[in-house]
This record gives sequence, C-alpha cells and structure tokens, in this order.
Amino acid sequence: MKKLFAALTLLFALCQCAPAVPTVNEIENKYRACVPSAWGEAITGVLRRVPVAEKIVFLTFDACGGARGSGADTRIIELLRREKIPATLFINSRWIDANPKLFADLARDPLFSIQNHGFTHHPLSVTGRSVYGIAGTASPREVYEEIMGCDAKIAALTGKHPRFFRSGTAYYDDVAVKIASDLGYTIAGFDVLGDRGATYSADEIETAAQNIRPGSIVIYHMNQPKKATYNGLRRVIPRLKEQGWSFARMEEYL
Ligand SMILES: [Zn+2]
Repeated sequence: MKKLFAALTLLFALCQCAPAVPTVNEIENKYRACVPSAWGEAITGVLRRVPVAEKIVFLTFDACGGARGSGADTRIIELLRREKIPATLFINSRWIDANPKLFADLARDPLFSIQNHGFTHHPLSVTGRSVYGIAGTASPREVYEEIMGCDAKIAALTGKHPRFFRSGTAYYDDVAVKIASDLGYTIAGFDVLGDRGATYSADEIETAAQNIRPGSIVIYHMNQPKKATYNGLRRVIPRLKEQGWSFARMEEYL
C-alpha cells in the first residue's frame, strides 16, 4: 500500500511538473477564428518587470542571428563573468547555428539563463502584421513554429526547455501572446530600453540605465560587436553596483 501511494505521488508530481504541450494542430484548431485586438511591445500578457521590491535588476541580452545579426560581442560576456553578473540571454535559432561553440559555452555557464528568441526572428502575430518594415508571423501555425522551432533546438542542445520568449522586434498581438502561454511560455518584455537595438551611444546607454527601478527588465544586445553596447555597460555595471543594485536571472524569481 505504501509503495502504491509512493508511486501515485510520484506520478502526480510528474504530471504537475510536465503539463502536456499542445500540438500545432491543437493550436490551429483553437485559434483559427481568433481576431487580434491588441498589438505592441507592452500589451496585456507581456511581462515588463519582475515583481520584486528590492533593488534587483534583470539584465537581458538578445542574440538575434541572421545576415547582420550573427556576431558576438565576447567583451560583454567577459565583462559579465568578470563582474559576476547573472544575466538572461534571449537567443535566436539562427544565432545558435552561426555560433555553436560559443552557444555551448554560454549554456554550460550557470551565470547565464538561455531563453527563446525565436526561430526566424519575426514579430509574433497571427495576421502577418509588420513593424519597422519586418513582417510578422501570419497564422497560429507560424506562431507555433516561431516559438517551438527555437525551443526544440535549445532543448536538444542543452536538455532544458526555455520558459521565456521574446520575439524579433519584441512586438506581439494578443492572440499570439495567448498561444505562447498555452505552450508554457511567458512573454519577456522590458521596461528599460537599454541600447535600442544596439544603436545607442555609450552616453545614451548610461542615460537609459537611470530608468532602472526594482524588478526592471533591461534589454541589451550581445550580437553587435561593432556597436557601443559594451562601452556603455562597462560604465553602467560598476555604477549600478556602487548604487547597491544586485543582479539576477529572470527564472530565479518567476
Ligand atoms: Zn533580436
């Protein structure tokens, strides 16, 4: 009887830990007729801050991939390691393909949390809505593929499924946000635009960091070594430490 109880408890625990992820057909059937009513970077369901009251900040770094986005600013990685700054890395499937050794190195380092930045780096939409001239995914099936294509690649390489998703451009419609939730994902927005797609100067990066509040999610890029993100961070990180801020990965608090 005791053994049966233990087995049932284990079975229950396993069921709790691993809810079944819907198939692409289930997602299509459920959302086929849904018409989006919201669009943006900060719509309902997009997490913009981590709910903590202490002076904890969550630095995030996107690695976007593609023809102009598959670089790697290893100075940023070295800075984070030297200063012992935990960070959440949003990595696109194409960037992994272009940087397999560096990806494996990052995934092995407990300082970093590897999260999902999509398969093809498009805005997440069920209607193909575009932003900055970049067309979004155009159906529930494409939303599924954008999320789960990268999920499968990361899980195969690391043995661990990501829990947070950020799309290319960080734009979403509300139906796509619901699909992500069904797939077990929280959409990771941001409340501080740290480097504006790696276009800020070091001075602008310093100014942007003044907007950091407890629980802020700050978005930077680690894939543009010719841009100023590293030079800005080299000033921002010591300043934040002096001001008594601590740093954490999103998964530690969510
Ligand atoms: Zn990106």
